Amino acid sequence: MTSPASVVLVFLDSAFPDGRLADASQPQLLVTDQGATRGDGAFETMLAVGGNVRKIQAHLDRLDGSGKALDLAIPGQDQWRRAIAAAIAEHRSQHPPVSDADDELVVKLVVTRGAEGAAAPTAWVQVSPVGAGARRQRETGIDVILLDRGYDSDAAERAPWLLLGAKTLSYAVNMAALRHAHKQGADDVIFFSSDGRVLEGPTSTVLLAHVDKSDDGTPVKRLITPQLDSGILAGTSQGALFKAAKEAGWELGYGPLVPQDLLDADAVWLISSVRLLAPVNRIDGQEIGTPSLQKELTAELNELFAGIQ
Ligand code: PLP
Repeated sequence: MTSPASVVLVFLDSAFPDGRLADASQPQLLVTDQGATRGDGAFETMLAVGGNVRKIQAHLDRLDGSGKALDLAIPGQDQWRRAIAAAIAEHRSQHPPVSDADDELVVKLVVTRGAEGAAAPTAWVQVSPVGAGARRQRETGIDVILLDRGYDSDAAERAPWLLLGAKTLSYAVNMAALRHAHKQGADDVIFFSSDGRVLEGPTSTVLLAHVDKSDDGTPVKRLITPQLDSGILAGTSQGALFKAAKEAGWELGYGPLVPQDLLDADAVWLISSVRLLAPVNRIDGQEIGTPSLQKELTAELNELFAGIQ
């Protein structure tokens, strides 16, 4: 649980060019705000390391894309950048990092359709510490269950009003899936579509790796993720890691994947901006890959990912 005392809020407000600092322990939204009453809005969750947000341009671009899908006027990127810088600076001054290893913050951008009848959206930046759970799961890995997402992999194209590729505020289903997993003793979920394709986690992208030997005996490493047009959110972490892995000589693949591909992989991860790479130890109780190879590949990908700004 994040205590309001450790949260810094900066609202985007046309009267304040660098954003308006607000008290996170006090009410700040009208009860008619459509973000609260309908989950009508979009968000981004980013990681700041040493005060710098990683992949900020990719997050701001994805937020613009979510705004287009929702017909929602998203504030300009310069306005976001100023408010983000102000919020991070305020957090670091209120809670100075005690060590370099500790110098990570979660930076969340939220835009709602605003209060009913309002002309402008409500938009704010929220900065808070990274939870111990996310840090732990990077190290220990996670157990995952497979769950049916309830639509087929063509639904995004057939029914754009489902907003499947957008990062909307309507995450109640994603959170319900996580609670379902926790009740089964698992840590997380991998969704599959009704036509049997691997999709994504409720808050992460699925990655798998295969290591084969080429004819001359050198290892060929392949990193694979589900098809981006199958109704999943395009992960900024997956995108950045794929670019770095390609430069480091990995082969890349984009699905389609079925659950058996996960069970046959040498390693599987869930990747996202804050938790980073969480190695998947078991899926539906079945151990994945070989622990030593998983460890080696995780270390290599972590190093590549750490180099991304
Ligand atoms: N897929 C979903 C549904 C998500 O909610 C997230 C992040 O929260 C991701 C994938 C991973 O995205 P990113 O790597 O940009 O954090």
